[in-house]
Amino acid sequence: MAEMRSTSQTSKHQRQPAGADADPVVVALRLELGASAVLTGADAQGRSAGIWRNDSVQAKAIVRPTSTAEVASVMRICTTFDQPIVAHGGLTGLVASGITNPDEIALSLERMTAIEEVHELDRTMVVQSGAILQVVQETAEQHGLMFPLDLGARGSCTIGGNLSTNAGGNRVVRYGMARDMVLGLEVVLADGTVLSSMNRMIKNNAGFDLKQLFVGTEGSLGIITRAVLRLREAPAKRATMLVGIESFDKLGKFLKQFDGSTGGTLSAFEVLWNNFYTLVTSEPATQQPPLAQDMPYYVLVETIGSDNAAAEEALAEALEQSLIVDAVLVQNEAQRQNLWAIRDDVEQCFRYAPVYTFDVSLRLSCMEAYVDEVNARLKKAFVNADIRNFTFGHLGDGNLHFLVSVGAGVEECAATREGVERCVYEPLAAIEGSISGEHGIGLEKKPWLSISRTPIEIALMRQLKLTLDPKGLLNRGKIFDV
Ligand SMILES: Cc1cc2nc3c(=O)[nH]c(=O)nc-3n(C[C@H](O)[C@H](O)[C@H](O)COP(=O)(O)OP(=O)(O)OC[C@H]3O[C@@H](n4cnc5c(N)ncnc54)[C@H](O)[C@@H]3O)c2cc1C
Repeated sequence: MAEMRSTSQTSKHQRQPAGADADPVVVALRLELGASAVLTGADAQGRSAGIWRNDSVQAKAIVRPTSTAEVASVMRICTTFDQPIVAHGGLTGLVASGITNPDEIALSLERMTAIEEVHELDRTMVVQSGAILQVVQETAEQHGLMFPLDLGARGSCTIGGNLSTNAGGNRVVRYGMARDMVLGLEVVLADGTVLSSMNRMIKNNAGFDLKQLFVGTEGSLGIITRAVLRLREAPAKRATMLVGIESFDKLGKFLKQFDGSTGGTLSAFEVLWNNFYTLVTSEPATQQPPLAQDMPYYVLVETIGSDNAAAEEALAEALEQSLIVDAVLVQNEAQRQNLWAIRDDVEQCFRYAPVYTFDVSLRLSCMEAYVDEVNARLKKAFVNADIRNFTFGHLGDGNLHFLVSVGAGVEECAATREGVERCVYEPLAAIEGSISGEHGIGLEKKPWLSISRTPIEIALMRQLKLTLDPKGLLNRGKIFDV
């Protein structure tokens, strides 16, 4: 590594660069990685701070390493200068966990996107952490295999971001979350140590499974640089349908009946409350409603490993038991894409901006009463406001999304946000629900962490953080204060 020295040590005769360019960390990073690897000024600050955000990146610099060795050098330099740093993947995270302040450095994985290896027999893929999820999915398909993780942000989010947030998505009911799809990890620790835990086996109980420390911890314990992903056989059969249901009670019964009838092949059970379905199937949204808009609930159901004949049989049984009112079963790939486009058209909700987004998790048996309580609390807290709570979610996993709009008449400010959050989060305490099913904590949910975690759990999280990152450089102030 190049020698580091403070600017006060440089010769008086040397010309001093201005602003961030003169910062000793930036100077050291440029010496080590080359000028083009470190963006400052307009090159850095012109970037969006994240999807669905209106602000731009506020950082001293954005550093863009190309290899694990370079990430390790970056971390060594940051440790030497006590420089806080935040990893950036695709910036599609929804809880402000990738936000930097002007004194921080962003470490972008955008130049570490390689798919290094696909092993068809072992059913593994080795990738650099900046690889885009959709590229990983498509590469697996080209080898007759499948990487089951799937979410609406697939075209922009990265494997490193997916693992750091332990992303959920559309197929959790069948394949689990991101942590269930990774066999090995390579991570750079805060002091620049490279932890190589690139296990390629499904079973390995030789001591602690250290990789799981870095999954779902939002870049606060280390920078993920490479991963061994577990692949599955590409499905020969698949069935996708939309179903209309008249009560919440029948929704739960239909989930059990359909899952049982299709022999464990259920891979998605995405419920759309009427207000969300109507929004995304009415103009100016581009999708037409496949079923009339008069049902309280709609479910996008998908199976992987069973075909339309099995689905038809299960649906007929559900109709006979009066669990469902109506259903459409897709007949080709274009129809399948259209159904998923309805589910994924979340951005329609932003017509009612400002919109506050939530991803709570709770037992199915508590869900109907919980949703009623949230809506009642919102009405009470924002009397006379034009409240809309667009509701949908991965119901098969007990994970619900609310996109809450309080209407243009209510001022958009911290107090409004807190008022909405109170309505959503407080009722979770009594039913032991979680304030986050999949998006994580970041800055947005930090004040509410104690609803879902005990003081002892939070104290142990702090201890782990201090052990792995004693200077608190990685994603400082996110999740909890150390
Ligand atoms: C339309 C849409 C749909 C979505 N649907 C879902 C969904 O169904 N399920 C779901 O779980 N999420 C969903 N999300 C949220 C988001 O896409 C996920 O959280 C995703 O995993 C973030 O990946 P990213 O690469 O964009 O990470 P970023 O947003 O860049 O970062 C997220 C966090 O991970 C850290 N990080 C990123 N890369 C690394 C790394 N290499 N090493 C260490 N830390 C790192 C960052 O510091 C930050 O704390 C959705 C978002 C959008 C916009």
